[in-house]
Amino acid sequence: MTAIKTRILPKSKTIALVAHDSRKEELIKWAKANATVLTGFDIIATGTTGKLVEKALGKPVTCFLSGPYGGDQQLGSAIAEGKIHMVVFFWDPLEQQAHDNDVKALQRLAVLWNIPLACNRASADFMFNSIYMDTDYEIEVPELK
Ligand code: PGA
Repeated sequence: MTAIKTRILPKSKTIALVAHDSRKEELIKWAKANATVLTGFDIIATGTTGKLVEKALGKPVTCFLSGPYGGDQQLGSAIAEGKIHMVVFFWDPLEQQAHDNDVKALQRLAVLWNIPLACNRASADFMFNSIYMDTDYEIEVPELK
């Protein structure tokens, strides 16, 4: 049976960034526009996205494997462990991916573990302009009994 417990999304957050190939340019543009806020965050990303973000921001990024090679699953696992506090994931709404199952699994875990998940620029902008960005925030998460 699943019960509910709480977790804190801390003021000092770790953010996961992922973009499919057709949306990498858009993510980098967004990251540059939000460089000041992102500087205060620890950033984790799938391999190729992470290298691009690192170069664009001149800030170290923890790079997991490339998404299709297991990076999305690594991010999902880190979410379940409470190591990632929000996700910006610009996935491709027009093309199927070889790793669609992993993409879905990553999104499922973000929803299950109740962390903010933005999948387009408008959502990411709203998220980054939230009053909760700069403070601890209590979330409810599942607890297996
Ligand atoms: P990538 O992976 O950053 O290594 O390109 C992204 C993805 O396809 O999930």
